[in-house]
Amino acid sequence: MFDPLLPPAFFSFAALVLGLCLGSFYNVCVHRYLVGQSVVSPGSHCPACGHVLSWWENIPVLSYILLGAKCRSCKGRIHWRYPAVELLSGILALLFAIKFGPTLQWAVYMAFLGIFLVASFIDLDSFILPDVLTWPAAALALSTPLYLPVDWAETLLGSLCGAGIFLLLQQAYLRLRGLDALGTGDIKLMLSLGALVGLTRLPLMILLAALSALVVAVAYMRRPDAQGMRTAVPFGPFLCLGAVLTLLWGDELLNRIIGF
Ligand SMILES: [Zn+2]
Repeated sequence: MFDPLLPPAFFSFAALVLGLCLGSFYNVCVHRYLVGQSVVSPGSHCPACGHVLSWWENIPVLSYILLGAKCRSCKGRIHWRYPAVELLSGILALLFAIKFGPTLQWAVYMAFLGIFLVASFIDLDSFILPDVLTWPAAALALSTPLYLPVDWAETLLGSLCGAGIFLLLQQAYLRLRGLDALGTGDIKLMLSLGALVGLTRLPLMILLAALSALVVAVAYMRRPDAQGMRTAVPFGPFLCLGAVLTLLWGDELLNRIIGF
């Protein structure tokens, strides 16, 4: 593992700042996908009143706090998603920097973190995992053995088995309960997630995803406005979470489980 002490501390800090700034961009991607706007233009503005943001209203997380979660112009509330995405992006960039150091592997995983963050927050809002994200992610993930120290067979089989398991689950649900509980988006997403974690770590990834989804679903169902078992929960974000946890600590976890 990469030693997180000085001077690598500088890299970790730079990664954190980069992650926070990228988070700001991911917010733009999520919001503009949900409302069907172009990602490149116009510049950053308040979605409610169109007020164009000055530089100090555009600082990740900090601006949200300084502005008191309100637009300076129309006093409309800023969605909690904005600081959440920025903070998550920053923390993940930092954790991956500590784990992988200033390597190509870190840079490649940063690209995946961006895709998965944007896809997850779109899924949370709209129950859609856009093809424009899942297909390129799958292509990129399946090509990682070309430039990363990962095994071809692990990558290929992880991808096929990951997507295959979810395809079978979807079909089973459809036949037995007449319920389309798993979207095809989840299956396409598994093509890339399975490739990234590899076949050996795939069961751990799915277990972590299922456990985190269960924890959130139980917490959610206890809310007074929940509709019990009929409450729909998008699974994409949990699959991404499971994969991220597996990439960060999967090997250590598996070693402990096997050593036990
Ligand atoms: Zn406004």
